[in-house]
Amino acid sequence: MKQYKKMITTILLGGVLLGSLAGCGSSNTATAESTILTEASSKTTTTESTGGVLVMGTNATFPPFEYVDQNEIVGFDVEMAELIANELGMELKVQDMEFEAIFGALPNDMIDIGMAGITVNEERLTQVDFSDGYFDTKQMVIVKKDSGIVSSDDLVGKKVGAQLGTTSATFAKLYIEDVKVIEFNKSALAVADLMNGTVDAVIVDAAPAQSLIKGQDSLMILETPFAEEEYAIAIKKGNSELTGKINEALATIKENGQYDELYSKYFSETDK
Ligand code: GLN
Repeated sequence: MKQYKKMITTILLGGVLLGSLAGCGSSNTATAESTILTEASSKTTTTESTGGVLVMGTNATFPPFEYVDQNEIVGFDVEMAELIANELGMELKVQDMEFEAIFGALPNDMIDIGMAGITVNEERLTQVDFSDGYFDTKQMVIVKKDSGIVSSDDLVGKKVGAQLGTTSATFAKLYIEDVKVIEFNKSALAVADLMNGTVDAVIVDAAPAQSLIKGQDSLMILETPFAEEEYAIAIKKGNSELTGKINEALATIKENGQYDELYSKYFSETDK
């Protein structure tokens, strides 16, 4: 376990770089739930403009960043994309898809940008380009309060649930000894399996973890983060023109207070 502890420290210090070593990695065993496709269908929200359409690919299973509310895809990422589209004088169209599909949709021009709480890592940088970072986050571990698991050290040899193709799944496979990682199409399904005892813990990004345990008195989030990461907007590799424009738009909405306003709508200062 000593080695594991060291690894965690390293992840916390350089998670983005280490993510690169993770590779895609196939899952161990998948449960029936993991084959269920995302239930949300593709929906479109628009902002008024005349300068073309900016298509955002997302995976609307990740509250509060992107989720379906009353048949509409909403959330922090969606509103931020609207602000960016506005800056670019474009109309935003939101396209829902599997999380991993975002990385294939970009090179094929099916979407212009990917925003889905996407962590920057070296492996993804070989497939897509990224904008400047727009959100710092941590990965957290959800367990049952009565599980006896009090720190990440206790996850050795356990069954851990995570969303398919995410850095939560790759980190779990890399850094927990003898772990069995079960991947689900959405973290909510992993939490359902945690409640019924099929998995011992779920690893997921911090804000979605808070959403997932809301109203579930038997669950808790371990105090120590499993990893630290940064979200950025994924863009087709080589499209430096769009990357440049998006970075400018990002800088503008950070300078003019719109980013802070949006942040306060979804998060409290303590989330920072
Ligand atoms: N931040 C994680 C990743 O990029 C999870 C993203 C998600 O599930 N939408 O892998």
